[in-house]
Amino acid sequence: MSSEPGIIIVGAGECGARAALSLREGSYLHPVTIIGEEVHLPYERPPLSKKILLNEGEPQSPAVLDELALQERNIRHIGGTTATAIDTSAKKLILSDGRALPYSKLLLTTGATPRRLPNVPTSSRIVYLRTIDDALALRPWIRADMHVAVLGGGFIGLEVAASARSRGAKATIIEAQERILKRGVAEPIAETMASLHRRNGVTIQCGVSVLDIEADEQRVAISLSDREMITADVLVVGIGAQPRIELAAQAGIAVDNGITVNERLETSVADIYAAGDCCSFPHPLYGGRRLRLEAWRNAQDQGILAAANLLGANRSHEAVPYFWSDQFDHTLQIAGLADEGRSVVRRDLGEGAFILFHLDGEQRLVAASGVGPGNRVAKDIKLSEMLIAKHLILPIEALAGGVNLKSLLPRAA
Ligand code: NAP
Repeated sequence: MSSEPGIIIVGAGECGARAALSLREGSYLHPVTIIGEEVHLPYERPPLSKKILLNEGEPQSPAVLDELALQERNIRHIGGTTATAIDTSAKKLILSDGRALPYSKLLLTTGATPRRLPNVPTSSRIVYLRTIDDALALRPWIRADMHVAVLGGGFIGLEVAASARSRGAKATIIEAQERILKRGVAEPIAETMASLHRRNGVTIQCGVSVLDIEADEQRVAISLSDREMITADVLVVGIGAQPRIELAAQAGIAVDNGITVNERLETSVADIYAAGDCCSFPHPLYGGRRLRLEAWRNAQDQGILAAANLLGANRSHEAVPYFWSDQFDHTLQIAGLADEGRSVVRRDLGEGAFILFHLDGEQRLVAASGVGPGNRVAKDIKLSEMLIAKHLILPIEALAGGVNLKSLLPRAA
């Protein structure tokens, strides 16, 4: 038995689970405890807006940590329990059931929660999507005789609309901005996704806001600013997510668009780290600009890095941001931050697939965003990720086509 209190991880999503696994892979011998608000063991979230909604079989998402993995690695999972306070001077975590757990070090992987629409009635016909239980509540509505309305033309909205149409339901997206995917996705890519959706029968209404929502036993009625009224069987609200910072803020830990951490994922309080959707961190590739990323890959990378640093590695987060979304038969992929600079397009990928390379003022590649059927852009986005990480100045003509991106990478010595 270890005499050390050990490491507690608050948040049993992708990030927390990866951190727990990595602590054991890093030969940490003291207790590891992971606390989750949900009763379920840690599972993958990406299938919730896709496979789970489409699947008529077992309503399960793949586990990140199952019973056997917990047992074999001697990781304690406390589910269905909220961490309500941190006593930073006594180094104790207080739980909703009244327990006070001592810790040597604490990792906060509290994630994000859906942004809520104010003044909306409570109804089973109005759904937010973050957890497996949310997805299972939505699933019965995703079928041929239903009209699924979606508020928000972001990733939840588009993926749910694609799943709904794939099952034959009618799908309508309502977006307040003048186009879908306004945040972080370049216009040509967003246009391609919008055409794909329209070709597949999704109605997209942009530039309209919601004035009122009413729900009864028969339907949900959404009154829009252009005076139209949309009547649907269910309304999915996907209007963004907010970092879960309450626990950290109450404990006096610095927060600024998420729990503030340094490049090693350390918070402002000794022995407390944060990682994943809940934290904002400086990124060396973008001049130390503070980012908060809501993305599966980042959750995984930072969970692994946090574990290494909890064990004393003292490493900085340098991974190139990466993001993907599957909609109908297309995949959109983004490496880097595609929100600034000039761009060069490459179209020699076949089947209408293309990639935009985003360059900074010195012609360094800072991002690449691509879209196409299946895996058409995957290889070049992967190579772009490597080029972005190298911070290289690249010839525009080579990016525009005809040159294998691999040849632009420096040769290993
Ligand atoms: P999101 O991608 O940020 O998109 C939300 C969209 O809704 C934005 O375009 C937003 O516009 C719009 N919006 C905000 N308020 C609105 C209103 N009142 N009426 C109509 N539109 C409104 O967020 P999300 O789709 O809700 O997704 C939530 C989280 O899950 C995100 O972290 C997302 O990355 C994650 N997720 C990821 C994936 C994936 O990795 N493939 C898939 C699903 C979900 P503004 O920008 O103007 O606010």
